[in-house]
Amino acid sequence: MRILVVEDEKNLANSLVRLLEVEKYAAEAVYDGKSGLEYARSGQYDALILDVMLPGLDGFTISSILREEGNDIPILMLTARYKTMDKVHGLDSGADDYLTKPFTTEELLARVRALLRRQGAIHMDEIVFGDITLSLNTSTLSRKDKQVRLSRKEQDVMRILMSLPPEHIISKDELIIKVWGADSEAVDNNVEAYISFLRKKLLYLGSDVQISVQRRLGYFLEYPQC
Ligand code: CA
Repeated sequence: MRILVVEDEKNLANSLVRLLEVEKYAAEAVYDGKSGLEYARSGQYDALILDVMLPGLDGFTISSILREEGNDIPILMLTARYKTMDKVHGLDSGADDYLTKPFTTEELLARVRALLRRQGAIHMDEIVFGDITLSLNTSTLSRKDKQVRLSRKEQDVMRILMSLPPEHIISKDELIIKVWGADSEAVDNNVEAYISFLRKKLLYLGSDVQISVQRRLGYFLEYPQC
């Protein structure tokens, strides 16, 4: 579980990150609205803890933009504002939950757990597909006693492929948006390069898992079940 904290009070942001890490989440903080939006768009986070009053872009705007773009990352809004109208505005802008400062760490953690639960998310450190296991903590792909390290982007691509629902295919465009972000300059060639790195690593592991291509539609994983 990776959580992004967008909060301009650096002390608070950093203590939230430490708190989340103690609870075994991977957490990162950014301190202004523009970075918050950019990071949230990357598709690398499972939840967003979002302050409202931020330099650059405010939390309401970030939340609205993400929802307009079809991004359904769970959002917990964090703010010193306490008026009902602000709460309504926050929820209208697409936030899933709303927590007023000051708050206790217990309450924050309970809200985060609830948020992730609602998404059907679970503490997931490993993803298994066919004969391979992707460890998200160590960024390694393994098969039996062989393992290989993945770069950040390789891991992102592999995680997305391994998490696809059965019979689903992911297009190059979708992969680019999820891994590189909607306004990135990444092009088809990047995806092809990463797919080819991953194929080499699967080969090295001696895995039977294959990254297959459906022309013009996209990628999916195959594993012979016999
Ligand atoms: Ca603030």
